[in-house]
Amino acid sequence: MINDHSNRCRDLCANDTIPVAVARRRILKATEAVTGTDTVSVGAALHRVLAETVVSPLDVPAHTNAAVDGFAVRGSDLPREGTGRLRIIGTALAGRPFPSPLPVGQTIRIMTGAPLPKGADTVLMQEQVLENDGFIQIEARHRPGENVRHAGEDIRRGETVLAAGKYLLPPDLGLLASLGVVEVTVTRRLRVGLLSTGDEILPPGSLHQPGKIYDSNRFSLRGAVTARLVADIIDYGIAPDDPPTLKRTFQEMAQRCDVILCSGGVSVGSADYTKEALTALGSVEFWKVAIKPGRPLAFGCIGDCLFFGLPGNPVAVLVTFYQFVLPALLKRAGVHHPPPFPTFPARSLEKLRKKPGRTEFQRGILERDETGRWQVRTTGKQGSGILSSMSRGDCFIVLEHDRGPVETGDWVEVLPFSALM
Ligand code: AMP
Ligand code: MG
Repeated sequence: MINDHSNRCRDLCANDTIPVAVARRRILKATEAVTGTDTVSVGAALHRVLAETVVSPLDVPAHTNAAVDGFAVRGSDLPREGTGRLRIIGTALAGRPFPSPLPVGQTIRIMTGAPLPKGADTVLMQEQVLENDGFIQIEARHRPGENVRHAGEDIRRGETVLAAGKYLLPPDLGLLASLGVVEVTVTRRLRVGLLSTGDEILPPGSLHQPGKIYDSNRFSLRGAVTARLVADIIDYGIAPDDPPTLKRTFQEMAQRCDVILCSGGVSVGSADYTKEALTALGSVEFWKVAIKPGRPLAFGCIGDCLFFGLPGNPVAVLVTFYQFVLPALLKRAGVHHPPPFPTFPARSLEKLRKKPGRTEFQRGILERDETGRWQVRTTGKQGSGILSSMSRGDCFIVLEHDRGPVETGDWVEVLPFSALM
């Protein structure tokens, strides 16, 4: 009887839940990039977002140069058959070019990166020629043009190097520097407000009291945001389950922040306080998302500020952060093509319980089998409050919406934490 009732209840609930992909789409649709820019030095531009397209002021490479250590020759001096001999008349080093054109029938020693002298169009690898008494001896196996990097072959002057909206990663910084660029215009830093809610939540550092727990969500969220974006994190601490206080806090946050990340107070039972506080402040909806962990989620706007009401459970906070908040933060920061968060297949070393109709994110530990293929086991107990299950893990095991139970040896998709954090 009880089973019957709870099954029916579950079915009813299943009807008003929204799939992960739908929730993410709705969130991204409502998310707009902030306006306003900062100028920062290239060295400080990691994880910033370009606000202006960067056009190359130079050809890269700037001059035609040797791709290997060896000898610069004229292609027309290469023997068609038998062997040829060229006199060595000088040296070109990277940064120290040979000062005059290369005469016919002669060669210079050249190091990788050194400009080719006028007239030379070919570099013979040091190991492929015989050097003797001021001459090199060449066999007939070389092709004119070999081992040369041409001016502008990587980038031409005036070419777009990085487009506006580019999320800047380490190679981009090197690329900008290689063009002689010193500063770039990037979108301004996002202001992200953090709030934990709940009468039971205590700040670390305070005396532990019976029935209370220390706040972890503000700390995971701060780390999760700053690992991917340069943002100003504004910490609003902990608010009690008291609608007037919550309302005041949300109002204050919305005035200063681009995005509010609030945790707790969205699950059945405790959502009432948050709902009451948000009524009249903005348009925030309370969703049931077909995701485990992390089913309850509130999302909307207070004025220009995006509001995320994340579930209170510490694992659910992080799961929903990566599925919903991070894509929105990147878009809000002006990123045009967000980096992919790729999954790959691994064999499950365990049976996993899973019901079709929701996406599950279990926490796993990856390793390779003796043939080098990936396999994964869970970190043990998967309760959404067990943060150590995430701390011990190195990936999410992503069990897709329609998927049923997993048998030992089945393939599952994994999303490595190293792609996210
Ligand atoms: P709630 O969504 O407010 O009902 O919270 C769900 C669960 O998460 C409860 O067990 C809370 O005590 C816990 N929780 C809520 N906020 C936090 C927090 N900031 N740090 C750790 N646990 C929390
Ligand atoms: Mg609560």
